[in-house]
Amino acid sequence: MAKSKKEKQTQHKKPPLRGMMDNVMEQFNNAADRIQLHPHIRKILSITNNEILVNFPVKMDNGDVEVFTGYRVQHNAALGPYKGGLRYHPTVDLDAARALAMWMTWKCSLAGLPYGGGKGGIKIDPSKFSETELERITRRFTYALADNIGPEHDIPAPDVNTNSQTMAWIADTYMSTRPPAQRTANQHIVTGKPEGSGGLEGRDRATGYGVYLTIIFWADKNDINLKGKKFIVQGFGNVGYWASHFLEKDGAKLVGVQDAFGSIQNEKGINVENLFQYTKTNKGSIVDFPNSQTVDHDDFFALDCDICIPAALGNQITKENAPHIKAKLIAEGANGPTNVDGEKILIDRGITIIPDILCNSGGVIASYFEWLQNRSGEIWHYDEVMEKLEKKLKGNFNKVFVYAVREGVDMRTAAFCIAIERVEKAYVQRGIFP
Ligand code: NAD
Repeated sequence: MAKSKKEKQTQHKKPPLRGMMDNVMEQFNNAADRIQLHPHIRKILSITNNEILVNFPVKMDNGDVEVFTGYRVQHNAALGPYKGGLRYHPTVDLDAARALAMWMTWKCSLAGLPYGGGKGGIKIDPSKFSETELERITRRFTYALADNIGPEHDIPAPDVNTNSQTMAWIADTYMSTRPPAQRTANQHIVTGKPEGSGGLEGRDRATGYGVYLTIIFWADKNDINLKGKKFIVQGFGNVGYWASHFLEKDGAKLVGVQDAFGSIQNEKGINVENLFQYTKTNKGSIVDFPNSQTVDHDDFFALDCDICIPAALGNQITKENAPHIKAKLIAEGANGPTNVDGEKILIDRGITIIPDILCNSGGVIASYFEWLQNRSGEIWHYDEVMEKLEKKLKGNFNKVFVYAVREGVDMRTAAFCIAIERVEKAYVQRGIFP
């Protein structure tokens, strides 16, 4: 059908965003070219190993039955079991799960963990369902995934709109459906569990703490003092809140926040703990926080600040808003928040990006600690966890920083090159069956 002039203009003004797969593939190919990745291994890594799609029925509170669609994509397991989060969001589809699973392969490889990459979730807006419905949806999804997940095979964790409660339901359902003698031995089917159910002290804050640490490491390398530095954060959930919490404790000033419901700013500073308490009484939303001004959605990334932390969804920093960003540093708390077009503009403008696969890797590193703790029957305490996390992240940050300086590349390219080389080595050593 012919398009009206108005439709054509709208299309011209707002071209469709690149899909997340386009982004991760371009990042992968860029690094693969640089390290001259063997063409056979490039072929293998360009595609996912397994893609599981399940449609499953759930009884609603009012007696109706709804059918939901869930996904689990397993990208690569050359380094160990698949590892990655489960997301409950209307944007969850195969493209998103594939891209996020690939990023997990590179994140786990870069972090030096014995894991491959996986990701999944349910295409759902969880705010439309009661707690009891979400519990039944989660349990039925776990049951539908059946042996496609497993504590030594594919280990989910929390992501957008899932949390330690979701993980507890998954663990309980998975364990309850094993033969009796195997039930308790399967606690490490998921990580990010509540502390009373095999969870790790500090796992709740590990991703945000890791984001904060990578900012500290960057500041140290550049002789920058964070005291009084202004930062903005997109997404005030698990990652955004905890990153803000630690930055504020160090004297940095939160001046802008955006969540799914709106955007606020206050150049004099927004108190992180007060905002967090406010969201608890405001259906999880930051909107109308006292003493803050409302910001138009599209103007958010142009707010005056030194550090910008995208900690919500993918594809948020694009060629539309990258030219207006004032921050000198982008710390990617989210997975895939900067698309390749946006990134080119940021690099040309001399803005540094701490890439997602490094910046938010504190979460999966702590998940690894939880998994080890469950397997060995040990209980690690908070200080020990945080110390181990910091040591590991510092080593990983330095590896990326040194590579980037030596090769004259940005930190994302450096991180991808290191990550891909480790997976390549495993294939070279083992060969390809048969
Ligand atoms: P969360 O559900 O706790 O919080 C998500 C936040 O993003 C909420 O404040 C929500 O309102 C906001 N948001 C959602 N849609 C938005 C939109 N369109 N615009 C602006 N804000 C929006 O999720 P989380 O666990 O904090 O995850 C955030 C990001 O961090 C995701 O990209 C996730 O993949 C990544 N990540 C999470 C972990 C983890 O341990 N939770 C680990 C690594 C990476």
